[in-house]
Amino acid sequence: MGNELRFDGKVAIVTGAGNGLGRSHALLLASRGAKVVINDLGGSSTGGGRASEAADKVVAEIKAAGGEAVANYDSVEDGTKIVQTALDTWKRLDIVINNAGILRDTSFQKMTEQDWELIYRVHLLGAFRVTQAAWPHLRDQGYGRLLFTASAAGIYGNFGQANYSMAKLGLVGFANTLAIEGRKKNILVNAIAPIAGSRMTETVLPKEVVDALRPEYVSPLAAWLCHEECQETGSLFEVGGGFMAKLRWERTRGKVFKLGRAITPEAVQKSWESITDFTEATHPTDVAAGMQPVMDNLTSQSKGGNEFIDVDAALGYQFPETTSSYDERDLSLYALGVGAAQDPLDTKELQYVYELHGEGFRPLPTYGVIPALNSVLKMSAEGKQAPGLNYGLDRVLHGEQYTELLRPLPPKASLRHKGRIKDIFDKGKNALVVTEVTSYDAQTGEPLVRNEITTFVRGAGGWGGERGPVTDIPPPERAPDAVITEKTHENQALLYRLSGDWNPLHADPEFARNFGFQKPILHGLCTFGYVGRHVIKAFANGDPRLFKSIRVRFADTVLPGETLRTEMWKDGERVIIRCKVVERDKVVISNAAVELHKEVPSAQAKPAASAQASAPAAAGGGSASARVFEAIRAYVAQHPELVAKVANVYLFKLTQPDSTWTLDLKNGAGAVQQGAQGKADCSLELTDADFLAMTSGKADPQKLYFGGKLKITGNVMASQKLGFLGKVGSAGEGSAPAKASAAPASGNEGSGSSHVGNGRASALFTALQERLAQKPELARELGAVIQFHITDPEGFWVVDGKGTPSVRDGKADKADLALRLSDEDLAALVQDPQAVQRLYQHGKLRVDGDIRLASRLGFLKQLI
Ligand code: NAD
Repeated sequence: MGNELRFDGKVAIVTGAGNGLGRSHALLLASRGAKVVINDLGGSSTGGGRASEAADKVVAEIKAAGGEAVANYDSVEDGTKIVQTALDTWKRLDIVINNAGILRDTSFQKMTEQDWELIYRVHLLGAFRVTQAAWPHLRDQGYGRLLFTASAAGIYGNFGQANYSMAKLGLVGFANTLAIEGRKKNILVNAIAPIAGSRMTETVLPKEVVDALRPEYVSPLAAWLCHEECQETGSLFEVGGGFMAKLRWERTRGKVFKLGRAITPEAVQKSWESITDFTEATHPTDVAAGMQPVMDNLTSQSKGGNEFIDVDAALGYQFPETTSSYDERDLSLYALGVGAAQDPLDTKELQYVYELHGEGFRPLPTYGVIPALNSVLKMSAEGKQAPGLNYGLDRVLHGEQYTELLRPLPPKASLRHKGRIKDIFDKGKNALVVTEVTSYDAQTGEPLVRNEITTFVRGAGGWGGERGPVTDIPPPERAPDAVITEKTHENQALLYRLSGDWNPLHADPEFARNFGFQKPILHGLCTFGYVGRHVIKAFANGDPRLFKSIRVRFADTVLPGETLRTEMWKDGERVIIRCKVVERDKVVISNAAVELHKEVPSAQAKPAASAQASAPAAAGGGSASARVFEAIRAYVAQHPELVAKVANVYLFKLTQPDSTWTLDLKNGAGAVQQGAQGKADCSLELTDADFLAMTSGKADPQKLYFGGKLKITGNVMASQKLGFLGKVGSAGEGSAPAKASAAPASGNEGSGSSHVGNGRASALFTALQERLAQKPELARELGAVIQFHITDPEGFWVVDGKGTPSVRDGKADKADLALRLSDEDLAALVQDPQAVQRLYQHGKLRVDGDIRLASRLGFLKQLI
């Protein structure tokens, strides 16, 4: 057997080798060339007596088989002598198998100190003495193999073996450390927990089992672990009856308690599941790996907290996204709730509550807090609290509010709300928790409003955490620049609560009394709405679109029926505010300011992700090229034959500013989509400005190409088929046909809002212009000038059926009929001009002028 694992020239000590496992190990090693010291005290299995017979018999067996062995009759407690036997006989030592053992089984109840002591002496002290005597020799020669004999009783525990279990697992620990200390000197150390039929087990196992579990099934593993080729060290194996397996430690992922605050037994109890759950277990193999989570925790400092607030758990928490929607009705109800339009003849106030208002319906910007707050209230009603915030509603007050309009609110919208715990501040006795909610237009994905709702949590501070910035906004010394005084209604809270804050504190007299108030109190956010409206009145000429943001601190409660006096100081672009209840001369809103825009910001929506010609959506980015693509879309819709003629997909990569568009003149009815859609046959790369010049006929594509200003990749020939682009142009740029029929825009409102609009109206009027150019008789049937005022997004167009029929953007000097409707309703009207009746009756269409002309809108039919 050329591959036989041999022990020629190696000297081994096997303690307790007179019987059982020790004997089996010794016979195997000797049969493979090892010289073996057969140590055995020769006593009983409980440690009594001694005799040389046991060892002698095994030595004789080995010798009879042609092996080399020497007997030693010392107790392992005299380990030095055993080692000396090896050195005296063969002058060397390579292998030590600590195997000798006895049992003193008894229940712990009956266990004597002698039982404990004897077991300790034979197993642990004996193994120590033998190993300590052998160690210097092994180190000096730079080679050694040590094997310790543990037991399942030590690993798992076993009734009646408290002493034995102690010793056996003690040996595992002993072996583990020797493995580390011996590694450098090539001394490899392992332990086995065997099971075998022997004197030891014959009293506890049935005879058949004892006979079947032969020690010879264990010894091969022992021999391999003691062989030169085996590099295993520091390991523990279970072995017996033909089964061999390695054991290791397994640790749960565990729970890390941030340091820096008390770790309580209650916290341990609460975390019991994560402390004990093995689903994400690890298997550390050394002390460093074992310590890893501890060291990690030491280096990551806690942000602090207490039983009310766990800053580490709560800070940065992101709430699940929520959705909601609102329309003019919600806005009007809110506006009434914050005291708007008390004078129904005041046109600047009427705009907040009347959807057909002549100047246009305008949302009150402070409404921006309502959908966000409602989403938070809804989550808290559903029990969805951020982790780590463990206080009840009885401790909280709405302390401060910041609301920022990222663009003017549309009159109706579907919203998505994203919330997170933005800041947590320790104010000493109390704490502040700042929840940030950003509301996005669900259709365009654009952020509309950002809110910071600051909750004051009574008695929850004091962990020594960050105090947060000073948000004081002291009013100037001088007299206010403007003051508006307004009395609230006795039923103001009942009206305001319909916007979503249903807390009975604002409606139920008894409930309010229980909280120490003489009657239900007004919502802090109702007063917030009053002051916001007052600033718009006093400093924005009644135009709510100039409103950028508002920050307030709620200083005291207001009772419905009381009079609010808003004092305002202009301070650059902001207006510092203080609001008092006149009757009690109490400041109810302090440290407050409103920021105003200098000009009305653009209300243009970003483009929807894609738009088919059959369903044009809000157009892109407001850039001129976006409007050109809008016009191309309309043109393609009008010329379905292009798809068959051109049969290519084009990708336009515009730069300065960057935008990408796909013009599909190959599939279906053709399409214009923003972004790269599908595989293009031909790509054109040029600047936005050159693209405009090209499509308005001012620049020749050939010249751009040869001048290096237009890069064409893919099928260059396909670019030759784009000649029709010169015919399209945009309403803004004025292409050839557009110039022919469109008069320049007139009657600029000067408000900064776009006259052309960027919704589908732009495409519709471009298409109408084409239609009337082709069929002027349609316009002549109309025989009148119609002014269209499209909202959401806003735009003005004039359809002139007198003289040369034309469609142009802007306002007419004199229109026979004026129609105001939303972009969406215009699309509905185009689908079915009969819808005019329905839109009018539902208040969605405002008609001024000769109402009879409204029945002559047939020219709009099936424009798309
Ligand atoms: P065993 O009784 O057959 O053999 C043990 C031998 O050790 C005996 O010959 C005994 O005379 C000798 N001995 C006792 N005290 C001594 C001392 N002070 N100095 C020198 N020799 C001494 O038992 P075994 O079953 O072969 O056990 C061998 C080892 O295996 C023991 O350490 C035991 O604890 C361990 N073990 C055995 C089993 C099993 O199922 N047999 C299970 C777990 C662990």
